[in-house]
Amino acid sequence: MTTRPRIYSFTQESNDGYAIALHGGAGTLDENALDDERLAYFHQTLRHCLAQGERILANGGSALDAVEATVKALELAEEFNAGHGACMTWNGEHELDAAIMDGATRQSGAIASIRTTKSPIAAARAVLDHSDHLLLSGQGADDFARLAGLESVDNSYFTTPMRLQHWQDLHTERADAERDLFRFGTVGAVARDRHGNLAAATSTGGITNKRWGRIGDSPLVGSGTYADNRSCAISCTGHGELFIRAVAAHDISSRMRYLGERLDTACTTLLANDLNVPNGAGGMIGVDAQGNLTLAFNSRGMYRAWSSECGAAGSAIGEGVVEWQPMKAEG
Ligand code: ASP
Repeated sequence: MTTRPRIYSFTQESNDGYAIALHGGAGTLDENALDDERLAYFHQTLRHCLAQGERILANGGSALDAVEATVKALELAEEFNAGHGACMTWNGEHELDAAIMDGATRQSGAIASIRTTKSPIAAARAVLDHSDHLLLSGQGADDFARLAGLESVDNSYFTTPMRLQHWQDLHTERADAERDLFRFGTVGAVARDRHGNLAAATSTGGITNKRWGRIGDSPLVGSGTYADNRSCAISCTGHGELFIRAVAAHDISSRMRYLGERLDTACTTLLANDLNVPNGAGGMIGVDAQGNLTLAFNSRGMYRAWSSECGAAGSAIGEGVVEWQPMKAEG
C-alpha cells in the first residue's frame, strides 16, 4: 500500500524570528495504540528536547548550537533510535551514525559506525570544529572523539530492554512484518537563528539487524542531512538506502535553488516520486531561509515537534497535535 505524503507547514509571519523543528523517526507508528499516559509522555519528551535548542535560539544563539543541543537531548531519551536506546546490529551490538552541518559556511562534520562515544552528535560536531576531515568512521572516529575530550562508554550503554526484546524477537522468528518495519526512529533537528543562519543535525543507530558495517543516509551529507543558507536545512528519517539513492536532502535544496520551488513543494515532490514505495520510505523536516518550517512523511507517522518565534509551536506523532506558545528570551 502506498501512503500519500503528509505535509505540515508552518509559515513565519516575520522574517526576523527563529525557527526550529525536530523529528524522532518515521515508521509504522500508530498513536492510537498508545494509552493516554504514554501519549502524554511522548509529547512531553518531544517538547523537552525541542526546548533545549529553542532556548538557545530565543536568547540569540546560533542555529548550529541549537540543533546540536536538541539532538543531544533526543539521544538521551531512550525511546528514540539514537544514543541510549539505539537499535541493535545483527551481532547484538550498536554502531552509531551522525552528521551536523552549518548552512552559513556549508562546513559539516560526520561520524559513522562508532561504538563507544556517548554522544554521536557531539562527535560529529567535534569533527566539524576540530578536524581537517568531514566523515570519520569506526575505531578511528571513537579515538578522535576521545582525544577531543568527549565521554566514552561501554557499547552496552546504548542497550535498553525494548531494543533487546526487539532484537531477540527478530532472532527467534517471533517478529511479524509490522514489527520489522518498526525499525526506524532516527532523530534530527533543523533550525534557523535570528541572524538568518541555518543548520541541520541527524543521529541514529541505523536499522535493526544491520550487518557488515552498513552505513545509512544520516551521516552522509546531502542524503540524510544538509544545510545551506541559500535554500534550506534538512534532516531525514526512514529507509536509508532509498534516501541515499535519491540524495534526498540535497535534492530538496537543489529544487529550491535551481527551480525556485518552495520548501514544502520540494519535499512533496521527492516523497511522491523517488521516495514513493509501499508502506512509505519515511520523511524529513526542513526550514528555509525565511524560517518557514516543513515536516513531511509518507510513512504512517513521524515523531515531530516545531516552534517558530513568529508562528506556531507544537508536537505530533500522527494526526493529533498538541500546541503551545513559542519560547521567549529569558530575562
Ligand atoms: N535513516 C536511518 C538509516 O537508514 C534510519 C531511520 O531513519 O530510522 O540508517
